[in-house]
Amino acid sequence: MWFCAFLWRRDMKINVIGGGPAGLYFAILMKKADAAHQINIYERNGPDDTFGWGVVFSGKTLANLRAADDVSHGEITKQFEAWDNVDVVHRDAKISIHGNSFSGIARLQLLKILQRRAEQLGVEVNFHAEIHDVEALRNDCDLLLAADGVNSTVRLRYAEQFQPELDSRANRYIWYGTHQLFHGLTLTFRENSAGVFAAHSYKFSPTTSTFIVECDPQTWTRAGFEQISSEETLDYVGAVFAQDLNGQKLLSNNSKWINFLLVKNRRWFFENVVLIGDALHTAHFSIGSGTKLAIEDAIALAESFRQTASVSDALIHFEKTRRPVIEDYQAAAFESMRWFENAKQYMHLSPIELAYVLMTRSGRVSYEDLKRRDPDFIRRYDGRDSL
Ligand SMILES: Cc1cc2nc3c(=O)[nH]c(=O)nc-3n(C[C@H](O)[C@H](O)[C@H](O)COP(=O)(O)OP(=O)(O)OC[C@H]3O[C@@H](n4cnc5c(N)ncnc54)[C@H](O)[C@@H]3O)c2cc1C
Repeated sequence: MWFCAFLWRRDMKINVIGGGPAGLYFAILMKKADAAHQINIYERNGPDDTFGWGVVFSGKTLANLRAADDVSHGEITKQFEAWDNVDVVHRDAKISIHGNSFSGIARLQLLKILQRRAEQLGVEVNFHAEIHDVEALRNDCDLLLAADGVNSTVRLRYAEQFQPELDSRANRYIWYGTHQLFHGLTLTFRENSAGVFAAHSYKFSPTTSTFIVECDPQTWTRAGFEQISSEETLDYVGAVFAQDLNGQKLLSNNSKWINFLLVKNRRWFFENVVLIGDALHTAHFSIGSGTKLAIEDAIALAESFRQTASVSDALIHFEKTRRPVIEDYQAAAFESMRWFENAKQYMHLSPIELAYVLMTRSGRVSYEDLKRRDPDFIRRYDGRDSL
């Protein structure tokens, strides 16, 4: 069927593999643009099964969401927790840097909002529908959207066409939650005899924070995580950050140590198949969430369909306009990831120095930017000899 749409794209049949943020958001925008599109989402999980805790959006992303779909934006902003500070905790001192607008929402809440919105618009969301035969689904539609996440089945099935580049990084990280509330994006460094542990935490609801812990492979091995159970791991990590958790427990959601997988693809589409979201690219979680990029991909792809008259033109337009944005973002995320991979090199710095190098680590935020955002922080940094 795809070759018809190759020439003309009205009233398309669109199959979407993956009901995460990317797949749902694209379906919403396409159905809004033309209610005659027949859109089917296939999602292996049920509507309430999810992993992860909170997701983060910058002020700029929220403006993009409002422009793309006011209705879901309204629902999202009703539920979110907003803050403007990054806090760096090192050697028991907390340094706050203001002027960074962010907000957090539970991933489950976000998915529920997007599922409801998609269904309201007439998108068919098929839960408990795991796709194994990708080719059959592709032959039955004008456009096959591969929004099936970091371990994408579609990317694997058509690896020859997409030419993925996968780089499994050495650091390990684990996603926990906690009822200790971190009011702001909090980066906490703690050391013990095994090595350095970094926690990335933020509040995403009135009761719960995300708490991601990262360490290098040597620290991970010395801590003995290979030999201990999930409960013992939870206790160990809880003890490392005992002061920061203030008596609250870490919460697991089937949490496991993972190596961050850096995903890139030489080609983003072929014929009627296109990758978006984590299936297409990943960016280290220290620079902002994958959810934001996944949704912004969906916005860019829907916009490409609005501006062109065939599937092939839309996919060419999508890659042409979106690739530079993603490459820029991945370059910044790479610097940030490398910083955390080498975190132990910075532990000799004073808290204010560490806060400064952290804020400027990706090369995208300068001394002048920080001076504008938080003059008091820069005054303290400039006067650090007297600290
Ligand atoms: C363990 C883990 C925890 C995370 N926690 C957070 C977090 O707390 N905050 C945050 O911002 N980011 C988190 N992330 C990253 C974030 O989830 C992604 O960057 C973001 O969700 C990307 O959106 P997506 O729609 O591209 O992919 P995903 O959200 O991964 O969605 C892909 C969907 O496709 C479905 N799927 C995959 N294959 C098939 C198939 N063959 N058939 C049918 N369905 C299929 C999956 O079930 C999934 O629902 C986490 C990632 C991981 C691996």
